Amino acid sequence: MAITVVGSVAYDSVETPAGKYDRRLAGAATYFSLAASYFTDVRVIAVVGDDFGPDQEAVFEAHGIDTRGIERAPGKTFFWQGSYLESLNEAKTHRTDLNVFAGFQPKIPEAYRDSEFLFLANIDPVLQRRVREAMPGVRLVAGDTMNYWIKDHRAALLEMLKGLDILLINDTETRMLAGTNNPVKAARAVLTMGPKTLVVKHGEYGATAFFAQDAANASQRGPIRAFRAPALPLDEVVDPTGAGDSFAGGFFGYLASQREITPAAFRHAMFYGGVMGSFAVERFGTERLQGLSRREIDDRFLLFRELTHLE
Ligand code: AMP
Repeated sequence: MAITVVGSVAYDSVETPAGKYDRRLAGAATYFSLAASYFTDVRVIAVVGDDFGPDQEAVFEAHGIDTRGIERAPGKTFFWQGSYLESLNEAKTHRTDLNVFAGFQPKIPEAYRDSEFLFLANIDPVLQRRVREAMPGVRLVAGDTMNYWIKDHRAALLEMLKGLDILLINDTETRMLAGTNNPVKAARAVLTMGPKTLVVKHGEYGATAFFAQDAANASQRGPIRAFRAPALPLDEVVDPTGAGDSFAGGFFGYLASQREITPAAFRHAMFYGGVMGSFAVERFGTERLQGLSRREIDDRFLLFRELTHLE
């Protein structure tokens, strides 16, 4: 089943303890698409400027990603500058230039209309909601956001959340959105905002899924029911940028590749999310995600199983 994704296609300048790079192709929709492309067909909606050339286009083409929904506008492509010098789990943003995204009016190509899966990758929640509303026929909608939108665009974000089946965010974003520090209380609060499932990403410690139907049973005695998937212990994290989007791409790509979304398929998807996140951080930018094979992905999935299997 095809996934349509809307989100940032960007140029990033990033510094990590392992080194730095300047203005490389990146963005939430780019990481997501590359990761998901190993599992299913992906179609992108975004806008880029006149500084986006054939070399960048070729990265998408090499993965069979449909770029007919990437509009070209006069001006510069979205630019993000960040560093991970204090913590590899948390980016420090130095600069965000929305550029051509500031006036973007998403248009959905006719060929995207039969997509059954929709991913609202990180971008202005107003744009995410517009795309959600323009695709009422989709079967499953998942999305992401970040502190930038939680802090300063809360009203628009809360509107967007009402249209989501699954929200994927990290620990800090969950606490910020919920206004509370305890992870279970925060998850319960977020699950009243719209999403039926919340996937909280813990960086190098994996990810946990919480489900609205279990969270609603607040009177139930005992701990909340949840599902936790591991992350792979790695010798070196070269560049954490895009780990979250790659997790989302592996997770949603795997779900979209399944005939039925059973609880077992959901659990496998959480593991495949971790697998794609672990690849993303091994090299700078999107480099590692560009050169994978399905064999490597499945071999790593087995490592994830070994990490948690009891027998
Ligand atoms: P993450 O998976 O959270 O590490 O996402 C990293 C990507 O998010 C980078 O490639 C950035 O270009 C992109 N990004 C950073 N800030 C924003 C923003 N405010 N809106 C949309 N995308 C962003």
